[in-house]
Amino acid sequence: MFIKRVVPRIIRNSRNEKTIQIELTTYEGKFIASAPSGKSTGKHEVPSYNSKGIGRSRVLLKAFCKRITGKNYLLKKIDDLKKLRSAIGKFEARFGRMGGNVTYTLDAVFLKAAAADKNKELWEFINDEVNNGLKPKMPMPVGNCIGGGLHSKLTRGKRPDFQEFLLIPKEASFSKAVTKNFHAYLYAKGLLKAQKRGDEGAWRTDKTNEEVLDILKKVGKKYGVRIGMDIAASTFYDKGYYLYKNKNLIRDKVDQADYMERLAKKFGVFYMEDGMQEEDFGGFRETLSAARKGALVVGDDLTTTNLARVRRAVAGKSINAMIIKPNQIGSMIEVKKVVEFCKRHKIKMIFSHRSGETMDNALADFAVGFGAHFIKCGIYGRERLIKLKRVMDIEKGLNK
Ligand code: PEP
Ligand code: MG
Repeated sequence: MFIKRVVPRIIRNSRNEKTIQIELTTYEGKFIASAPSGKSTGKHEVPSYNSKGIGRSRVLLKAFCKRITGKNYLLKKIDDLKKLRSAIGKFEARFGRMGGNVTYTLDAVFLKAAAADKNKELWEFINDEVNNGLKPKMPMPVGNCIGGGLHSKLTRGKRPDFQEFLLIPKEASFSKAVTKNFHAYLYAKGLLKAQKRGDEGAWRTDKTNEEVLDILKKVGKKYGVRIGMDIAASTFYDKGYYLYKNKNLIRDKVDQADYMERLAKKFGVFYMEDGMQEEDFGGFRETLSAARKGALVVGDDLTTTNLARVRRAVAGKSINAMIIKPNQIGSMIEVKKVVEFCKRHKIKMIFSHRSGETMDNALADFAVGFGAHFIKCGIYGRERLIKLKRVMDIEKGLNK
């Protein structure tokens, strides 16, 4: 794969924040990738940018792009990204860190070009390597229906403390599941009397966690859809306590674990992400041991797509499912390692968007190609729909 031209740009994400986009030209054509950005980021994620900010990252990236222009990269599989990584490593050792969002975007755009070089779709390129080219099973969507926490502005001075209230259909096809989620999402709007949406397109409300769960349960029942939540507990945790604002309550570690258990039972919650703060492997373990059979206890800020943390979480029986966000670790080789580990240990994988998203749809190809059980990329909003549509298109192509 010959690198004819590489152009880095700064674009705006769905939250109007600056992010990195890279356009790569090879003899096969032009390829574009960009990075999303989180708001409730885990402490153990790699930094997104240089410590001096995105401007400095861009300057460095520009210099790096010059160095790789005119070079040849043999890229027949994901692990061949090692050559690019070694060039990045040497460059960063001399000039400073570009950041996880930059290194992820470089990997992603290289993989897109490499797939085209082999006359493959991106998901196929990955599936060939990770799944021996066997026909992939489609993931199910995890859709954010009602929002709270850092992703949602206040409504009449309030919002739920939990970050996401989720709908998770189980259908024979991805497209049926997406349609179901959309209808359920509109039904929820009526029950909530909601008008406005938060960062990921989820409805904004002043209701408490429990009031929202009551509504979500009704929605789930009417449409035959499982329900879940991303508590994002680290976002309201401080020095040993969980600080609930909507009801003015403080819970310690034990109370929080009890509360999670109670909510899971009372509302029949199928999916529970980050119910405890990001260092509390023991608290996650309690939640998992109390969970009913088949329910998912999901790590996100706990695991941050970081193999060492995933190993610890799995060895300690803290999770049975995890979020995979490529820019949390900034390397597709590392993502592959995490995927292989999850497969070996039967940990369910949820490939996930970030709250600040771009129009890149690579996440959909990653989810299908790596064999994810779920893809979490919202229900509404063009940056979310483009990913759902991409999975639908892949599914259609496979059923022809
Ligand atoms: C999440 O916590 O799952 C999430 C998508 O949030 P963010 O992108 O803000 O980290
Ligand atoms: Mg999360």
